[in-house]
Amino acid sequence: MKFKEFCEYLKSIEETTSRLEMAELLRGLFHLVDSDEVDKVAYLTTGEILPAFRGVEFGLSEKLIMEALSKACGLKVSQIETIYKKLGDLGEVAEQIISWQGKALSLSQVYGELLGIAQTRGTLDKVMKLISLLKGLSGFEARYAVRIILGRLRLGVGDATILDALALMAGGKELKQDIERAYNLCSDLGLVAKSLKEGGMEALKSFGVKVGYPIRMALAERVASAEEIVRRLGRCAVEVKYDGFRLQVHKEGQRIEIYSRNLERMTEMFPEIKASILKEVKVHSLILEGEALAVNEETGEFYPFQITIQRKRKYGVQEYAKEFPLKLFCFDLLYLDGEDYTPKPFIERRRRLEEVVPKGEHLDHSELFITESIREIEEFFENAITRGLEGIMAKRLDAPYTAGSRNFNWIKLKRSYRGALADTIDVVILGYYYGRGARAKLGIGGVLVGVYEPSADTFKTISKVGSGFTEREWVELREMLDRIKLTHRHPRVDSLLEPDVWVEPKFVITVNADEITRSPMHTAGRTIEEPGYALRFPRAVSFIREDKRAEDANTVEDIVRLYNLQKKVSVE
Ligand code: ATP
Repeated sequence: MKFKEFCEYLKSIEETTSRLEMAELLRGLFHLVDSDEVDKVAYLTTGEILPAFRGVEFGLSEKLIMEALSKACGLKVSQIETIYKKLGDLGEVAEQIISWQGKALSLSQVYGELLGIAQTRGTLDKVMKLISLLKGLSGFEARYAVRIILGRLRLGVGDATILDALALMAGGKELKQDIERAYNLCSDLGLVAKSLKEGGMEALKSFGVKVGYPIRMALAERVASAEEIVRRLGRCAVEVKYDGFRLQVHKEGQRIEIYSRNLERMTEMFPEIKASILKEVKVHSLILEGEALAVNEETGEFYPFQITIQRKRKYGVQEYAKEFPLKLFCFDLLYLDGEDYTPKPFIERRRRLEEVVPKGEHLDHSELFITESIREIEEFFENAITRGLEGIMAKRLDAPYTAGSRNFNWIKLKRSYRGALADTIDVVILGYYYGRGARAKLGIGGVLVGVYEPSADTFKTISKVGSGFTEREWVELREMLDRIKLTHRHPRVDSLLEPDVWVEPKFVITVNADEITRSPMHTAGRTIEEPGYALRFPRAVSFIREDKRAEDANTVEDIVRLYNLQKKVSVE
């Protein structure tokens, strides 16, 4: 396919506000391209150049792109800046100032050049490559290339929309389940699209986990009591709930990769864990999961999360690793020497994990015991709380590892307060308000937040949040939001309210609230007959959660469950 034709599709997708139409356009696009192009289409339409876990970024600022445009077009940077001030979008600037027709490059050629720019180290080399690419593109094509480089394509295409479109291409919506399963096992939309195009549904049905491709993590549901754990699971495994980083470790021979909760590659941040795995784990290949946290070697006590979190840095990792070494409490085994362990029962995975991963300075097994006694679970819970831990996790003994899904195979029980919510809620910022009074000088007084509705792949509003941040955090937040502001509501946002500024649904914050109420103002859980759900007295308890993507926020279903839980607690 010619890159120009691809850009025409991008333009149509950009112009639609209907998700169904978007999926239909993408279906047409996937159908048209061949198997060498289909993966590229999947990455580019979701605003990536490679799956996020590869950690490849363009690393070109607006300023450098302006420099490249200036060299390519023979205009002064100051002239370009003036046009940019007027248009507000560097893609449009490129379109306006490029007067040549371009070389009618193919999608694969342009993709190759873009990837080359991203993978080049030096800034100067990147700019030179960009100049040469711009010279081969028409204005219309450059508009999209520039937006791709800046990460500002903003088509509103989420992973779920791509999966819908692939299912439509393969024959119908009912095929989505198998396609999604493959995606949950590899987190790579391009690989899924390519496998489907090359081998049809057969290839996806037999799709298995692969070392080097992070598995989308299984998540836990919450309950309010030990009694409910036993009612739901019967005899089950009960573990301590550690408050650290969830890590997925991949080993293939001497190669180790470590991925975070939201599947970012973070291998370099955990040198001591990498070294321990290489030295102490004797099998050739495996994928395991655990929670890493800083432990005081003298006392054996856990350091608070604030210490552990300091490891999330680019520089000074080695020094921190010396001062506050981490220990990985391993709790699951997902792959071992050629065998996919995800379909096996939990207890079998756990046994094998204990056999192949020895305990050591930086490796341990999560504390676990098996019981069906409510009293024993309560005691274990109380004990965990007095040790300063967050709570406990209970696991169904015969459950497979359900990649990418939150269900009652894993249950968390945290400290809960009577009358208050049983847990905090992760919400996505959808827009912000300028604020009145003292806040007006900060230019931001509150944010409109929402939760995720996976069935429609949209974000539904649940609250305005106006407290919990310091003044400095508000200012920083506003700057971050201004970088992703939109001129109109994002196509994947469903809202009855109109904030002063809409933003791309991207940033997740954790909030606490007094309770969940019903409200006609919000769209979360709203139907023709019933009002939506809202948070009463919400306050932020975290700044932007870098470990979560927008789709990792709590869902409408979670809110309904918390609402029902709260009703139960309050009648106790
Ligand atoms: P979630 O990860 O479920 O979206 P969250 O990030 O807010 O939510 P919690 O809800 O507090 O985290 O609990 C789930 C997390 O607990 C897991 O993702 C994992 O990082 C952590 N965890 C700690 N101990 C364990 C354990 N023994 N087994 C499984 N997970 C554990």
